[in-house]
Amino acid sequence: MNRAAFLDRDGVINRKAPEGRYVTRWEQMRLLPGVASAIAGLRQAGFRVIVVSNQRCVAKGLVTAAGMDAIHRQMRAELAAAGGAIDAVYYCPHEKLPPCGCRKPAPGMLFAAAREHRIDLAASWMIGDSDVDMSAGRSAGCKTAMLTDKRAAFGADVVAGSLLEAVAKIVDCDASLRSGCEVARKSERRRPMEPRALEAMGKAKHR
Ligand SMILES: [Mg+2]
Ligand SMILES: [Zn+2]
Repeated sequence: MNRAAFLDRDGVINRKAPEGRYVTRWEQMRLLPGVASAIAGLRQAGFRVIVVSNQRCVAKGLVTAAGMDAIHRQMRAELAAAGGAIDAVYYCPHEKLPPCGCRKPAPGMLFAAAREHRIDLAASWMIGDSDVDMSAGRSAGCKTAMLTDKRAAFGADVVAGSLLEAVAKIVDCDASLRSGCEVARKSERRRPMEPRALEAMGKAKHR
């Protein structure tokens, strides 16, 4: 069985478009700093890296499924070239209504990925920047990491300001899990991250 880090896309990998707007062309995609290194860190820690994204702009007709696939191909190529290869991208192209099984907070994309990549969901993490990501992760039985600069954590197991920081905490958490320490001790003050150590970890892959 494999372990996965499920990554939300907008607000985690790339800068979120303003409310009510969508990334419908590659030119609008702004990758966030440190993302390739963070993904490299997850891979080194033994996680499959799988993107799970709500993209109802497809249902709205703002971009075709082929257009969305092209954006994701380019995103993956760019990140892979920087050491952060993504194993798979799942997205929900549907509108909010009628409800589908894949649009987060439903856990459908995580279940599909688990089947297709033989993933142990209980040993996996969902990393996102919204409450629906945390709900989807929890419903699938994963641990959750919330990226936010505010206090709202939506019950996440880990709270961080960036993907790089979240990965540092997850890797730390994971190491302590193996020696019997509980991730659920949310109140526990965690060691501050060392972004430089993590950067080095990401770069180590190229050496
Ligand atoms: Mg998001
Ligand atoms: Zn859907």
